Amino acid sequence: MLLGAPGSGKGTQGPRLAQRVGVPYLSTGDLLRREAAAGTDLGARVAPYLAEGELVPDDLTLEVVDRALAGAGAEGGFVLDGFPRTVAQADRLGDVDVVLHLALPDDVARLRLAARDEGRADDADPEVIEHRLRVYHDQTAPLLDHYAKRGTLVSVDADRPPAEVMAELDAALDAAAPRAPG
Ligand code: ADP
Repeated sequence: MLLGAPGSGKGTQGPRLAQRVGVPYLSTGDLLRREAAAGTDLGARVAPYLAEGELVPDDLTLEVVDRALAGAGAEGGFVLDGFPRTVAQADRLGDVDVVLHLALPDDVARLRLAARDEGRADDADPEVIEHRLRVYHDQTAPLLDHYAKRGTLVSVDADRPPAEVMAELDAALDAAAPRAPG
């Protein structure tokens, strides 16, 4: 799984890592945004939280996550981006093979998010960006300790060009979970 502040590059690195390992890439942010855009009942309930940069309540998040994990499990694993985001979610998920932490100072994250142009409403408003950073530090950063204690955490300096970050993630992944030859 990938762990890091908004703007740390999870959505850039995740799909490529998944391709390399040969498993699906699951981004809860993408899944939740897709649900909201589809205008389902669930999507309508999720949308206000996305707009505010607030965590979506667990009962709603888990509906989307369980559905995706059930599909992915059958394929022999996954790269997770955006889940778990709280210690409670981590407890529910259970063990993961390796946690890749994309470490990024907040001031760099602010600049990246303000410059990002992916049509995301939660990137457009500086107050929402600040709120997402606060939510990350308050609710998600405690997971760093949680996984460090379990020996599954690898931290990578994410304040570098994407190709350099990718190379380091590749190396970390090889060291943590060597793949069988062939
Ligand atoms: P970023 O890391 O840039 O904030 P994401 O796409 O990962 O972007 O998340 C966007 C939004 O989706 C979050 O602000 C939150 O509202 C919601 N979200 C994503 N994952 C979760 C989760 N595991 N639990 C609750 N809400 C989530």
